[in-house]
Amino acid sequence: MNLDNLLRKNIKTLQPYSSARDEYTGEAMVFLDANENPFNYPYNRYPDPLQRELKEKIARLKGVTPEQIFLGNGSDEPIDLLIRAFCEPGEDALAIIDPTYGMYQVAAGVNNVNVKKISLTESFELDARELLKNTDEKTKLVFLCSPNNPTGNCLDKNAIQEVIQNFPGIVVLDEAYIDFAPGKSLLPQLKEFPNLVILQTFSKAWGMAGIRLGMAFASPEIISVFNKIKYPYNLNILTQQKALELIENKKQTEKWIKLLIAEREKMTKLLQDFPFVEHIYPSDANFILVKMHDARGVYEYLKEKGVIVRDRSKVHLCAESLRITIGTSEENGQLLLALKELI
Ligand code: PMP
Repeated sequence: MNLDNLLRKNIKTLQPYSSARDEYTGEAMVFLDANENPFNYPYNRYPDPLQRELKEKIARLKGVTPEQIFLGNGSDEPIDLLIRAFCEPGEDALAIIDPTYGMYQVAAGVNNVNVKKISLTESFELDARELLKNTDEKTKLVFLCSPNNPTGNCLDKNAIQEVIQNFPGIVVLDEAYIDFAPGKSLLPQLKEFPNLVILQTFSKAWGMAGIRLGMAFASPEIISVFNKIKYPYNLNILTQQKALELIENKKQTEKWIKLLIAEREKMTKLLQDFPFVEHIYPSDANFILVKMHDARGVYEYLKEKGVIVRDRSKVHLCAESLRITIGTSEENGQLLLALKELI
């Protein structure tokens, strides 16, 4: 893969913005370089544009180097930046699996980039050959999602690798839910694949959707493309401070993950007993997709009871299916109680 040939022409030649904090690093007594207000420390200061302290911590946590990390305003930021860096509007395309997370298509639409959808099989598996057959020289990116949203399953590792090894562009593997699928991440193999970008997030297992912190892992060459086109101070001080605190307390997150996986298994068993439940798809995530008789009716009924789930009935391959997030034991109990009253 030649990264230069893949990049949009204007991005290749773009002169990035150089901020005051880009041009100076080190210890100093007096900062009169960035037109900041001298009062209200520490919020008067611009944050580190490259989030060095946080990246050091995340690198240690994930077994990668800081140069292999981009941090963004949720995973949505790297999704958008990838499209802007590699896809010529009105000309290029990206390929996604179907069904999958909706933002890849929306971000492509915002950037006027075509989307090729490649259906998963009926059992939600990735058909690598079918996907590769549907890409051409205009297809610059492939988005895979594992565990996939809304189906909940991990895609087969061999099929993912077949796509990575045979696709001449960038393969983005969204692992937003990977913490609920221990041992299934491709991150340990990142170095083997120069065209791979792995997305993870603090929004799910880490319980921090509110601070908006997404991670992209890739070769230093790809990361430098992100850094070239991102907003100079894309991560605010509050987010960086909170994330550092969170990582210090990672035992808490580990406990949550164990608890939520146990709840997921419990809910999968208990929901099977309801007469209107037809199928519960196996899940590696913190939600389950449940096929049932009259999913819309059940959705409306639950809404009346104050329990909100996601109706995915109109989504490809997900007819009559609700996506149910795993909550606390009490919240899950309330859902079960409401469903019992429906029988
Ligand atoms: N990827 C997937 C597969 C998701 O389901 C979601 C959120 N629902 C995201 C990414 C977005 O994550 P973030 O909060 O980091 O933007």
